[in-house]
Amino acid sequence: MDLGIKGKRAVVAASSKGLGLGCAEALAEAGCDLVMNARSAGPLSEAAASIRSRFGVAVEEVACDVTSEDGQAALIAAAGACDILVTNAGGPPPGMWTDWDRDDFVKALDSNMLTPIALMKALVPGMMARGWGRVVNITSQSVKAPIPVLGLSNSARAGLTGYVAGMSRQVASSGVCVNNLLPGVHDTDRITALDSATAQREGKTLEQVQTARRASVPAGFYGDAKDFGAACAFLCSQQARFIVGQNVLLDGGGINATL
Ligand code: NAP
Repeated sequence: MDLGIKGKRAVVAASSKGLGLGCAEALAEAGCDLVMNARSAGPLSEAAASIRSRFGVAVEEVACDVTSEDGQAALIAAAGACDILVTNAGGPPPGMWTDWDRDDFVKALDSNMLTPIALMKALVPGMMARGWGRVVNITSQSVKAPIPVLGLSNSARAGLTGYVAGMSRQVASSGVCVNNLLPGVHDTDRITALDSATAQREGKTLEQVQTARRASVPAGFYGDAKDFGAACAFLCSQQARFIVGQNVLLDGGGINATL
């Protein structure tokens, strides 16, 4: 399907690996020029070079911590007159509800709520002025159903979801569609790290944990970054112009709910 976004300029935060990279690749395949970001310059350069050679699009690299004020300023400066913004950052660590103090909450809120809000506040006004834009926030299935060991994620992402519910409807008449994309279990470094932590906690092997987890997903497998990127690119397409303020769940049926 032609997504109608060839030549658009897309900023994808936290995109040298995993879900962010999946989104960057799918947008490049649709013909978008990219601004990519991660903290480590080496893997970011490798990912950017691979995208340039496979899809023939322009890719700028901004190696910085997107959760820092300086990092956000650098990414916003490189973004220029961007048409598409995909927000993302690393997820908070697992633990029990009694584990976290104020600093832990502030860090999680900075990463998974205040950073995407800062990027939207900086870049959406330009999209509105130009009469077209798409924003996809990578959040989590945890906004639909809490993940017991990820209380920091449950909390911070709920805050972002509330903000987007309101602001997406305030900008829609300017041609800017803002939505959230909610990953269930996708096979990335983050999920391997979380599965490894579970294995250690429960005295099991990684393979045992992953087999049990796969069995809990009705589709019977973990999604991958390509699945996720394809959905992201569709939300950024011309065809998605009537999709506003939604929370789109990609979880292979993992959350057992009617709506
Ligand atoms: P991942 O495989 O660990 O990849 C994370 C990417 O983000 C890397 O490119 C990393 O590069 C970059 N990054 C991390 N922190 C950053 C920062 N502060 N500034 C700039 N770049 C940063 O993670 P993932 O699985 O793709 O997860 C992405 C997001 O989706 C996370 O918030 C995660 O909690 C959430 N999520 C994922 C799943 C899943 O199934 N994978 C499910 C639910 C929610 P550097 O390390 O070089 O910075």
